[in-house]
Amino acid sequence: MSTMHDTPSNTALSRRGFLKAAALSGAGLAGATMLGGCAPATSSSNSSATSGDDLAATGEPSFLTAPASIDADEIAETVDTDVLVIGSGIAGAITASSCTEQGLKVFLVEKAEAPRNIGLDYGFVNPGIMAEKNIEPVDVYEVVRDHMEKSCHRCRGDKVYRFMSESGAAGDWYLEKARGYGFVPEVIAMKSNSDHFKNYVHVVELWPDEGAVADDGDWYAATKAMIANLQQEVVSGGGEYRNLTEAVQLLVDGGRVTGAICKGENGYLQVNAAKGVVLACGDYAADPEMLDYYTAWDFDSFDPDFFINESTGTGDGHKMGLWAGAAMQPGPHPLMTFMAYAYSYLRVNNLGQRYVNEDAGYTGGGNAQLIQPAAASWAIWDDKWREELPNQMPYAGGMSWDQDGRRIQDPWTPEGEEELAFSWEIEDGLLVQANSLEELANVMGLAPEAIETFLATVKRYNELVDAGDTDFGKRPELMAKIEQPPFYGLRMNVELGVSVSGLITNADSECLTEAGAVIPGLYAVGNNAGGLFGIDYNEVTIPGISLGRCVTFGWLLGQHLAK
Ligand SMILES: Cc1cc2nc3c(=O)[nH]c(=O)nc-3n(C[C@H](O)[C@H](O)[C@H](O)COP(=O)(O)OP(=O)(O)OC[C@H]3O[C@@H](n4cnc5c(N)ncnc54)[C@H](O)[C@@H]3O)c2cc1C
Repeated sequence: MSTMHDTPSNTALSRRGFLKAAALSGAGLAGATMLGGCAPATSSSNSSATSGDDLAATGEPSFLTAPASIDADEIAETVDTDVLVIGSGIAGAITASSCTEQGLKVFLVEKAEAPRNIGLDYGFVNPGIMAEKNIEPVDVYEVVRDHMEKSCHRCRGDKVYRFMSESGAAGDWYLEKARGYGFVPEVIAMKSNSDHFKNYVHVVELWPDEGAVADDGDWYAATKAMIANLQQEVVSGGGEYRNLTEAVQLLVDGGRVTGAICKGENGYLQVNAAKGVVLACGDYAADPEMLDYYTAWDFDSFDPDFFINESTGTGDGHKMGLWAGAAMQPGPHPLMTFMAYAYSYLRVNNLGQRYVNEDAGYTGGGNAQLIQPAAASWAIWDDKWREELPNQMPYAGGMSWDQDGRRIQDPWTPEGEEELAFSWEIEDGLLVQANSLEELANVMGLAPEAIETFLATVKRYNELVDAGDTDFGKRPELMAKIEQPPFYGLRMNVELGVSVSGLITNADSECLTEAGAVIPGLYAVGNNAGGLFGIDYNEVTIPGISLGRCVTFGWLLGQHLAK
């Protein structure tokens, strides 16, 4: 399997192959013809048999080759609309609602029975709710600068600034809607003020007022309910929402994307969209070929006990965009990875060795783990955690440097920690405890030689608590001896949530060609769009920026399309 990152020469080869595919599509775009004299060409008609052969000859992945065109006589139904939105996750539903509010007729398609609807923490910069809670406003210039630096400028400055400067207003719009549907927006404490892990914003969660959503323990129930509400707005506004309807190819006419062919329960459906087509199909991390090609990790080498891929995204929107001549953000692509909750406690790999300065954020700590043998890691602490954690709280950071779901008005409590983190970790068999370190190592399943190393590692760590960390340089405020039973060992799962990169779009969410030209009529939002993240998901600057960007760019796009 080729990747974009194996070696410099492979990178060059892949890049060339990719450019070739894009160029071929682009050429087809310019010369699009009419199918059967009545329908515009599907984007796949741009890839001739020759182009497919060329790609095969270079060993490039199959997804770069467009499928065969769908003939006009295969179309069972035709629909005319202003805007076609493909995918009804949060980004698509927001865009569809915003377009509807602007008086545009929307056709919203979703390939699944019910859309994906994951996430609960929304990140916005300076929404009104922060002022209501007397929280100091964020300096937009500072957060833009920091976000760009932390991305090593491998993202688009126009998109970053647009998000930082407009997400407050977008948040106000969304939270107002949520209130109307019976939710209470709550500001969540989870925010680090440490210089190194500065979170600029508190996230907002939608807590149910009575009747807004069933309190069945589903963390994502609010987002799910909001998506359903937004779909209903589309229908009430004269548009249509159709599930079990999968977009398969874009329609391109004279360089403009004019609609798409979708596959529904009754066969193919042609949707003509006068104003534009919005790709909101989510991420691609469930497509192994795309994941391998665009990202930097060797996923096959990870122990499935320590690494879980949660994504369901098959990259349909990325592929359709590429076939229509849209450019992809250059790889390696950033990912959103989650790590178990372990604060700054000692981490050991499956050889029993300490491997990192545990003063690391969420994504960074996960990355440090992914470069360990089999990506295996354990966090170790002892019975003193109830006293230690409150003292450590002001120092370190990362997205989950605090109790999940703690509102700013509520105090941190050990009981809350046990309820919100430890309870499910114990239930899932991730958190184990023992009365001696030897026993703990056995319960963790370390090999006999690793147990010896593990015991020596803990001994050494305890010495460094007194002497200062001359091995990894961890701040003394975060060091604590592991000496008082019971001892705890947390299996550190790294979960890949979603890929967060995609088609190159400008701040108006317009898709661009490799040459930087706007492709008329084609837009991408949410995880279908690239440009906002460079190296990894920037939870360190704006936690909740993933849902935040779906709301912000979807809301703005509705206004843009109405112009
Ligand atoms: C466990 C977990 C927790 C998370 N928590 C948070 C959080 O708290 N805060 C945060 O900011 N982010 C969070 N995220 C990330 C967040 O869920 C996603 O980034 C966000 O939902 C992306 O929204 P989207 O609309 O771009 O894509 P999606 O939610 O993936 O929606 C895309 C939709 O398009 C549909 N679709 C795909 N292809 C087609 C096609 N060809 N035709 C028609 N429909 C199609 C899909 O079925 C899907 O319904 C979390 C992710 C995970 C995995």
